Amino acid sequence: MKRLIFALLVVAGGSARAQAQAELPFVLKQIGPGVYAAIDGPEHEAGSNSGFVIGDDGVLVVDAFFTTDAARALVGEIHRLTPRPIRYVVNTHYHADHTGGDQVLRDAGAIIIAHRNVRGWIRTNNINLFGDRITPDLKARIEALPLPDLATDKDLVVWLGSRKVVVKTVLGHTGGDLTVSVPDAKVLFTGDMLWRKIAPNLIDGSVAQWQATDADFAAMRDAAQTTFVPGHGDVADLKDLREFRAYLLDLERLVAEGRRVGLKDEALARRVAPKLRTLYPGWTISDRAIAAEVRYMDQELAGTKKRPVPPAE
Ligand SMILES: [Zn+2]
Repeated sequence: MKRLIFALLVVAGGSARAQAQAELPFVLKQIGPGVYAAIDGPEHEAGSNSGFVIGDDGVLVVDAFFTTDAARALVGEIHRLTPRPIRYVVNTHYHADHTGGDQVLRDAGAIIIAHRNVRGWIRTNNINLFGDRITPDLKARIEALPLPDLATDKDLVVWLGSRKVVVKTVLGHTGGDLTVSVPDAKVLFTGDMLWRKIAPNLIDGSVAQWQATDADFAAMRDAAQTTFVPGHGDVADLKDLREFRAYLLDLERLVAEGRRVGLKDEALARRVAPKLRTLYPGWTISDRAIAAEVRYMDQELAGTKKRPVPPAE
């Protein structure tokens, strides 16, 4: 009888826990000792991925999601897992889908760390990011985003007690990109330098730099044992990283081929889209995403691509 009650309690506890997890706007995955990835749910309620590292004397968070609700849920999960304080949030870049919840993290005790260019871009360039989808509410939210407290254009080591976390500047997605690695767990949070099975947003990017950065990741000494947390899509490995880099190179090649036969704009996109979809089955490649990708790739090859200009301090 005792045994049966115990079994029932365990089942009840398990399902309550599963229920709580199901209500989160992300899926929390432990990917190393005290290292977690928070992967955006299928409804994309969080807007992007996040994650965190628990050290001996505090917690470092990587990216803050798009919505403040998702950021609040993340803070709740961190407090459930550890009594240690949230000390830092590192923004991998300025895009609002990664910085929208910064104020929630700051209110929870975090110092906001970002590339130095983020201070100049976060409240202005994010408005361009949304293009025709901007609303007055969203504009007001963007203009009220907190500015980073600690701005860098150099690599940093952040010590969480005895735990080493390495913040690196990289090139390719915006011109103000950081990655975060946890060497003792062989984890690399790549921000949007890596998307897993999703067509990436090239609005501020340079594919030439981006694919070179991904080649650097793939050439890291521990690359085959490393867990990569992408900016969008599920937790990734070296194979996923190589596939994403191949996608960028195929996009470049297909757009270049179309340009050589004189195609542009919609005609160019109509030629490239089915070829990419055939090469990458199982990827999420929306019509809107592919049209934008082809346009930006075309501009990069033509030498007319506009990228965010580093602001004066
Ligand atoms: Zn981004």
